[in-house]
Amino acid sequence: MKSTVRRKTLRKGSSCPTCNAAKLIPIVYGLPGRELMEQSERGEIELGGCVVTQIIDHNGIRTNDPELHCPTCSSNFYRNGVRDTVPQEISEQLEEL
Ligand SMILES: [Zn+2]
Repeated sequence: MKSTVRRKTLRKGSSCPTCNAAKLIPIVYGLPGRELMEQSERGEIELGGCVVTQIIDHNGIRTNDPELHCPTCSSNFYRNGVRDTVPQEISEQLEEL
């Protein structure tokens, strides 16, 4: 028997790896339409805005913007389970743009 370590894949509805309490919602990028705005108001999705960034993590892997958001602890995650570690200062700067 091989004992392979499987990295948990996150998806919509997965429990948050950080606070373990809430169900993750997808982050939608781009200019939201009316339907997406309504979904956001219901807490079904998180709007990521139009700014798309690319981050190289500690493994040197280029990753796209995080795809999942935890409404409880406000953490963002990539689909492969890695938590987004963009400093809060940068996030605030992006919101000002
Ligand atoms: Zn959480």
